[in-house]
Amino acid sequence: MKIKVIFLDFDGVINGLEPSNGSFEEGWPLSHIEAVLVEKINKIVETIEAINTDQEIKTKIVISSSWRIRFSLDELRNMLQTKGLRADVIDVTPRIYPTRFSERVPRGREIQSWLNSCQADYSVVKFVILDDIPDMVHLMPYLVETDDRTGITDSDVEKAIQMLT
Ligand SMILES: [Mg+2]
Repeated sequence: MKIKVIFLDFDGVINGLEPSNGSFEEGWPLSHIEAVLVEKINKIVETIEAINTDQEIKTKIVISSSWRIRFSLDELRNMLQTKGLRADVIDVTPRIYPTRFSERVPRGREIQSWLNSCQADYSVVKFVILDDIPDMVHLMPYLVETDDRTGITDSDVEKAIQMLT
């Protein structure tokens, strides 16, 4: 299957430090996913699908957020759907453990590892990384860096659409 992939971080992308609806009281973790920002992810996917000329290519979500360490893929998928996500979440990126105590594994390496290992199931034609932290090493050109105070904005949505088109 040919796919376009959105690698999705949560904190600083689908939540901000200043929640736009002012409702962080609902209780963690669901209160830390903002429906209004999830809707922007729908906008990216649905715009790309609408302008796609090759009907064989689908746009899918892979979760790169550290939330994947605490929650299962099903739990993450359910949370996102509860908050209004209509796109398919197909996987999470693998967790790569450091080989030395002092080492921090950049998220870009985990994303590259997913890209390498997905090849049996998918052919990735394009991808974009949505994240508020630029630790993407050689994948920096694929990053749309969000502002953790606001989460994803309309201009980030436009950038992501351009990069996936
Ligand atoms: Mg983040």
